[in-house]
Amino acid sequence: MNRIRRMEILGESAKYDRCNYGNYNPDNFFSEKLPGVYNATNPNGVCMPLFKVLMTNKCSNDCTYCVNNCANKFNRVELSPSELTSIFLEYYNNRLVEGLFLSSGVPGDIDVSMENMVEVARQLRLEHGYQGYIHLKILPGSSYDMIKRAMSLANRVSINIEAATSEGFNELSSTKNFNTDILRRMAWIKRLMKRDGNLAPSGHTTQFIVGASHESDSDILKRVNWLYKKMDIRRSYFSAFNSMEGTPLEGHEEPAPLRTGRLYQADHLVNSYGIDLKELTFE
Ligand code: SF4
Repeated sequence: MNRIRRMEILGESAKYDRCNYGNYNPDNFFSEKLPGVYNATNPNGVCMPLFKVLMTNKCSNDCTYCVNNCANKFNRVELSPSELTSIFLEYYNNRLVEGLFLSSGVPGDIDVSMENMVEVARQLRLEHGYQGYIHLKILPGSSYDMIKRAMSLANRVSINIEAATSEGFNELSSTKNFNTDILRRMAWIKRLMKRDGNLAPSGHTTQFIVGASHESDSDILKRVNWLYKKMDIRRSYFSAFNSMEGTPLEGHEEPAPLRTGRLYQADHLVNSYGIDLKELTFE
């Protein structure tokens, strides 16, 4: 399969990872002519086109909401670190994007997948002198050394928490562990950032899948509040669950369109204006 077709597939697969605020329709964020271009917006509404893609959609995990889950039968493709580096530089040098947001499925050894992402960042920084924005996903279960290497090259890293509680997380995956694969890695990221301010200087973020498990808004906001206080996260993103064909959650009810918007508002009130979470009422 040619490089552009693989890019289209892997750009499409990456669109559910959020780096945007407010409500959105994922279909509006990609140009058919420019696979992999994602218009991220910050809280002030400033738009930044990012090259946002997975290294591969091969995955051995069984996340029930994800089209790439291991049970789903479809074409699995990958880009090598050198291919991805050269495609990114073509986009960047033609001013089509201003930064890179890189994630990956996990076909086997987690650190091999992490190594591929780190290698892209290494080639860009050390072989091509690229000094722009790089956001690397930390894959659940990555080793301490691999996380440190990723943080030494990236402006920002993130690990998706997906759910507010261990019970909610277990509804979404049987192959990942909430406490060890997610929270322990977040604690490592925090520790590394405290020890060396040059590691991921733009901090770390996370994402919740809203509406895929039975968790309430209260559960989610309590966990977000805890993450700001205990893990020093910079931001939390809320991605509305989309029921996708071929996934175990196909047909599962999707959240009300306003739900993620309300979560952003509540998060903002608590974490920017200092309003006590207890003052917000949940129905
Ligand atoms: S780890 Fe889970 S969410 Fe990520 S690509 Fe694999 S199945 Fe999808």
